[in-house]
Amino acid sequence: MKPIDAERVIADLRELQRRTGDENGAQRLCWGETWREAREFLAELLGELGLEFEVDEAGNAWAYLEGESEPALAVGSHLDSVPDGGWLDGALGVMGALGVLRAWSGTKPPRTLALVDWADEEGARFGRSLFGSSAAAGTLDPAELANARDADGRRAAGVLAENGVELDRVLDSRSRLERIGSYLELHIEQGPVLEAEGIRAAAVTGCTGVERLRFVISGQAAHAGTTPMDVRHDPGLVASAVALRVEEIARAEGGVGTVGAMTFEPGIPTAVPGVVSMLVDLRHPDAEALARMLEAARDAVRSSASERGCEVAEEPVWRIEPISFDPGLVGLAREACEQVTGTAYELPSGALHDAASMAPHVPTAMIFSPSIGGVSHAAEEDTAEPDLAAAIEAFGELANRRLA
Ligand SMILES: [Zn+2]
Repeated sequence: MKPIDAERVIADLRELQRRTGDENGAQRLCWGETWREAREFLAELLGELGLEFEVDEAGNAWAYLEGESEPALAVGSHLDSVPDGGWLDGALGVMGALGVLRAWSGTKPPRTLALVDWADEEGARFGRSLFGSSAAAGTLDPAELANARDADGRRAAGVLAENGVELDRVLDSRSRLERIGSYLELHIEQGPVLEAEGIRAAAVTGCTGVERLRFVISGQAAHAGTTPMDVRHDPGLVASAVALRVEEIARAEGGVGTVGAMTFEPGIPTAVPGVVSMLVDLRHPDAEALARMLEAARDAVRSSASERGCEVAEEPVWRIEPISFDPGLVGLAREACEQVTGTAYELPSGALHDAASMAPHVPTAMIFSPSIGGVSHAAEEDTAEPDLAAAIEAFGELANRRLA
């Protein structure tokens, strides 16, 4: 066993960005030409180790370094990016995983190492995040994508077929998990906490739960000039009051809450709106606190709507329970980070990751590197190189501890 070569991992990341990014950022939108080029680069790098990847029914790429025993330790993340994305989101985890295989190549590790590049983690094209990992986990419903179209109006089924993926067979990728005994992922934090705390690498305890819903508030559209203030039923004011309440609710529970969109109809300056649709996204690592946030948001909409004589309809958009990673593996990750950086630190992830798909099935843990300014999904996304190296080394150490 050799320690992971962090410098080489960083060099691979820079080369990946040179090949698949431009001045606006990473352009590895899943299922497209540039994403396939990223995979060709991965194939080249695996080739140096005498390995090839196989693609499963959901489009995930798997490479195996045979070990003394199975089930395998899986390491990975995703090569796909959002349009104009950052150079590290996902790519760090894939190149870091490759670094683990590289450290063991030419030997037989105590157990098989499986590298996985999950397909379409971002969901940036068809709106379904964690596509490949949730298919492998069996939690994807292919029907969700049956009518999905991308920005060019192309259907998901056709675009997937161009990549050798049949939508009605994606769940067959579940068989890949039979070979897997645990899963580790390295990722950037995509938030400002580690930088603010001066932490260079940290263990991740789990992923926060999400409640995402749409409130459609109906009032009475009216002339903006002739309708006195005291006879209006203005759903825009209901939505605005709710947006401010969502902030208070999130602060009170120590979670985060966002009103990311509001649509006014008819949406003109000369009309009191008749209908307002608002998207609310609530997140918390604790299930009970998240449930309280959801109830409080519903109460806020109901009471504000009734004050103004408006009606409310609620539509679910998406939800996921908070997911806790394996305490034993999180502990190992914490120790690995402490060994490399001198500091043991852990935090929950506010963003979802492929690890959240794996955690209900196999013991799972993650390591985060800091994100400068907390910026991600943007060309400016970056991590100071010494911190990047520390996180990569901690990840290599974690993998080796798990293998031992
Ligand atoms: Zn990511």
